[in-house]
Amino acid sequence: MRKINSTVDRLAYILSPSYSGSTLLTFLLNAHPKVATIGELKGQALGDVDHYDCSCGTRVKQCSFWIALQSRCAAEGVPFSFEDFGTHFRLRDRRLHDRVLRARVRGRPWEQARRLALRMLPGAHRHFQAVLARNRALIRIVTELQQADVFLDGSKDPVRLLYLHQAGWWDIRVIYMIRDGRGAACSYMKHHNLSMTDAALEWKRTHEECDRLVARLPAAITLKVGYEELCAEPDRNVNHALVHLGLPPLDWLHDFRAVEHHIIGNSMRLRSSGEITRDEKWRSTLTADDLEVFESIAGNLNRKYGYV
Ligand SMILES: [Zn+2]
Repeated sequence: MRKINSTVDRLAYILSPSYSGSTLLTFLLNAHPKVATIGELKGQALGDVDHYDCSCGTRVKQCSFWIALQSRCAAEGVPFSFEDFGTHFRLRDRRLHDRVLRARVRGRPWEQARRLALRMLPGAHRHFQAVLARNRALIRIVTELQQADVFLDGSKDPVRLLYLHQAGWWDIRVIYMIRDGRGAACSYMKHHNLSMTDAALEWKRTHEECDRLVARLPAAITLKVGYEELCAEPDRNVNHALVHLGLPPLDWLHDFRAVEHHIIGNSMRLRSSGEITRDEKWRSTLTADDLEVFESIAGNLNRKYGYV
């Protein structure tokens, strides 16, 4: 019988809108030997898997970690494929199910209605439980393979955290990352070819969703980390986060790239430099009109987080 590792039920989750520094924080925390991660466990389309590079510099299909993961999954009967991790709470071919699963986190009555819908819609409950079980299996296997105590999921999505928390299977610690909304919106515009109106709305709505969720969770499980402070004082902020995860702090960190990582997703994974530089390109990129639009949509919320 397989030995049960009683330490694998510790789950750390990075909660944030996109472009808030979650990948940087994932790499920094993964420099700790007791933190296991693959980046965003929800998985995403890797595109051409045969030519996809793991952050360790090897093709993902040739990476010793991913090969070991595949063989462990096969031995335990856990389905796994690079094309679809099966860990994302989606049901693409059933529109109504998918909408219910992916809808933003809202107030308690709406969340009760969501739970009811997931029970009533044909096949939804079974699918939901299967995705949860797949997450549980992969969290355990990755944590054991990386010989760690805490699994870090950098998926960011609020609704995914809600589902993982409701499952009651893990001792969860949340790291809520906050970045100046003008910087995040500037990246949204660039990466998704959006107008400032759409970028500012996306940033604001996601933060409102994160705030609603955090308010529902036990206060002690969430730690807020500012992107700008993280870049300014990485050692202090990372150690603070490590202590929040119940891990001993480290006294290093100057080249987090020197540590072996097997992270997929964000293109930052392929950068060779371990230097931490704060991305402030928005200051020279955004026009006066962009800033005015941002201010009208999300200025109040940005100030609430301390950005003036
Ligand atoms: Zn690798």
